[in-house]
Amino acid sequence: MTALHDVISPITEKKITAVPALNAEETVAAIAKSVKAWETWKKVAPGDRAKLLRNFASLVEKNIEVLAKLEVENAGHTIGNARWEANNVVNVLNYYAGSPERLFGRQIPVPGGVDITFREPIGVVGIIVPWNFPMPIAGWGFAPALAAGCTVVLKPAEVTPLTAMKLAQLGLEAGLPENVFQVLTGSGRIVGETIVQDPRVRKIVFTGSTEIGTQIMAKCAPNVKRVTLELGGKSANVIFADSDLEKAAASAPGAVFDNAGQDCCARSRILIEKKAFDKFMPLLEQSVKAFKCADPNLETTEMGPLITSAHRDKVASYVEESLVAFRGTAPSGAGFWFPPTVLHITDRKHKSLSEEIFGPIVSVVTFEDEADAIALANDSEFGLSGSIWTNNGAKALRVARGVESGNLSVNSHSSVRYWTPFGGFKKSGLGRELGPDALNAFTEEKNVFINTEI
Ligand code: NAP
Repeated sequence: MTALHDVISPITEKKITAVPALNAEETVAAIAKSVKAWETWKKVAPGDRAKLLRNFASLVEKNIEVLAKLEVENAGHTIGNARWEANNVVNVLNYYAGSPERLFGRQIPVPGGVDITFREPIGVVGIIVPWNFPMPIAGWGFAPALAAGCTVVLKPAEVTPLTAMKLAQLGLEAGLPENVFQVLTGSGRIVGETIVQDPRVRKIVFTGSTEIGTQIMAKCAPNVKRVTLELGGKSANVIFADSDLEKAAASAPGAVFDNAGQDCCARSRILIEKKAFDKFMPLLEQSVKAFKCADPNLETTEMGPLITSAHRDKVASYVEESLVAFRGTAPSGAGFWFPPTVLHITDRKHKSLSEEIFGPIVSVVTFEDEADAIALANDSEFGLSGSIWTNNGAKALRVARGVESGNLSVNSHSSVRYWTPFGGFKKSGLGRELGPDALNAFTEEKNVFINTEI
């Protein structure tokens, strides 16, 4: 009999439900079903595949409120964020529903015949998802994979499986053939490892920590398994003295404390030009103290609790009281609460500037000039995201070109649009998701030469 795993709410610390914790044999059996389903799914006409994905999108859209409430309860996301996340799945499905009929090959001029290329689906794809954004990260993998003609086995994080399970159910209701999109719940060590090691799974899309991601990359190597990795971050919010400091300070809390800082794109290092420091800090204090950490079911809440008690302990270990510049507030009592916290760091080697804390802590550090700002921003093993605040357009472009990061924004903190590419430099990842090219990552390019002189 399949074992069960309790799912706990980070808001109440109470059990919500229990879900199956699959063992290795059950995972292998599910992969076998996925292999079989691929034989027919890859032959479904492009227009029909597109239609099924649009049906899927439309059912998700009808269930936005259901999905959003599940995510509030299971992950502690604010209701506003959770609605955005469910809607992101709708958008990503609709976007890639436009691609099966556009999965073009090329015709390349050659002597003696015709040379054409085909984009063929890779096969079974394993998608391994972390707990911080269960819905969008699942959708960024499964929507283009299904559109390309691949079948999917998706492993949600053990602590946040509920929305993925609901999405799989909606996919079936939308008409996806059985076993084309399966959600396999259970632990990373058992279900995740089995998916990664099984040679019949031709590609892994992994989002999670750099530590597990590098292990997965190594385990994919013996089978030359394709891999896309979306890993950690330690992104810089670079603020020049010539920027609109009021706007930079007002938006900085949202850029790092959104989702309680459990965001790979969190701008968790604020780099402020030294001559603007004294003016900037009181403005930042005002906006941090106004940032509302409360019950995530309330429409006005900007930040909920952390995901687990163990994670809260890890986050807390980064706080040295002597470095705290100021803090916001958080509820007390049940729930894994942690207040927004600002550290003022003068030692550039301090671990809060290099390690991904993944909680509501931001480190403020000063820089001297443009070259120093770029050097400081790049003084990280990560390179996922970041922001640049200045009113000098040429400087903004110079700094954007100088910072080694996959997703930058100028006078803004936006990182993610489903129709633009997303991914990391350095240890933040490998490959790109979203945008016009993501589908290619789920295909093999086949080249065929036809002799016309026979
Ligand atoms: P994690 O511990 O690496 O886990 C991620 C997923 O991998 C979970 O489903 C986990 O299962 C599974 N897993 C664990 N060990 C495994 C193994 N040996 N083989 C196969 N799968 C395994 O990461 P997390 O703590 O959930 O997520 C936080 C991290 O994700 C942060 O570093 C964050 O920056 C990163 N992230 C990156 C992006 C991006 O796009 N770059 C986006 C979001 C998050 P269990 O749940 O059972 O442990």
